[in-house]
Amino acid sequence: MSLSMDQQLQKRLAQRRADNLYRQRHLLQSAQNSIVQVDGKTCVAFCSNDYLGLASHPAVIDSLRRGVETYGVGSGASHLIYGHSQEHHALEEELAAFTGRPRALLFSTGYMANLGTIRALVDKGDHVFEDRLNHASLLDGGLASNARCQRYKHLDVSDLARRLAKTEGGRKLVVTDGVFSMDGDVAPLVEMAAVCRQYDGWLMVDDAHGFGVLGENGGGLAEQCQLDVEELPILMGTLGKGFGTFGAFVAGSEALVDTLIQYARTYIYTTALPPSVAAATRISLKILRRESWRREKLQSLVSRFRQGIADLGLELMDSSTPIQPVLLKNDALCQKVGERLREKGFLVGAIRPPTVPVGSARLRVTLCAEHTEEQVDALVDAIDSSLTELQKEGL
Ligand SMILES: *Cc1c(COP(=O)(O)O)cnc(C)c1O
Repeated sequence: MSLSMDQQLQKRLAQRRADNLYRQRHLLQSAQNSIVQVDGKTCVAFCSNDYLGLASHPAVIDSLRRGVETYGVGSGASHLIYGHSQEHHALEEELAAFTGRPRALLFSTGYMANLGTIRALVDKGDHVFEDRLNHASLLDGGLASNARCQRYKHLDVSDLARRLAKTEGGRKLVVTDGVFSMDGDVAPLVEMAAVCRQYDGWLMVDDAHGFGVLGENGGGLAEQCQLDVEELPILMGTLGKGFGTFGAFVAGSEALVDTLIQYARTYIYTTALPPSVAAATRISLKILRRESWRREKLQSLVSRFRQGIADLGLELMDSSTPIQPVLLKNDALCQKVGERLREKGFLVGAIRPPTVPVGSARLRVTLCAEHTEEQVDALVDAIDSSLTELQKEGL
């Protein structure tokens, strides 16, 4: 007799548990902040992507509230069928100015922005080149298009150049994370832009973790590398991380944005963001540009954390961004340290395959401008004592 659906699914889930890869959700009972309430316990959070502390900033909250009073809750429709509010439009214009691009287009999530953009730009007979460690949404975007996908070695511009040189015919779309979400390192965009120019590649950068955090005005890696729309024609950012709200955007030329409005299926066939979220994001953009102290504070916390971890003799990754992975490699150990830290009142992501390559399990520590130096020092101590305890227990 064949197994029922549930029996088949249970079997697969049991294997997941046996592999120490089973994932669980915890109940967040407070706002996302440096201090949170999780499963009834108060913890210091080193796991959110709210790098600047804007997700619960009073002015952002207030603009969301006023937006709801004016526009109601849901947008009620897609952008093309009368769901495109003046708040969405104003935010798009401000994002275009912020990124130094002629236009910007809002998407409901970053995942959808990536999927829709890649699919709208390439088709059968075209080619997509992806960094091996790109975010899942970029990889899925390549797979969902009808183009041929190749993955080049992480950050390796000569591998990319070699592949571009060998490829004849069709469009060549080169896609990369700006700041890599699980590693915290950054793509060599200046060199990549040069290689793209040489081989007629179209460069697309997903700077989900760079916006707000990098660049003098928070303009991310594109600002830091001073790449204009000619050199970096497709610039994507998300609003749920440094911006502290929700949604995403793609910035570029008139022709690019017009193409996305006409052809990006994840733009066309979905409900527009609530207008109040756009209103709140306009305020968070203002704060993010103006308050450079948030970026400076982050940098000093990053240095402090790295020094502390290096003093313990643990392995850090090559990152100067607020994403600071501590490489433990062993999946079971990583999971146990994550649990032990939670018991001690610290939340840290225990990241294991398939999110990261096999053998590279890590604690993904993210820092936020709202953290104090004392909290960072306490986290370093807690990582140290958790590892010592687990060693004694024979792990
Ligand atoms: C989070 C993230 C996304 C997805 O953005 P959402 O708005 O959360 O869907 C895309 N790319 C990268 C690099 C990310 O880190």
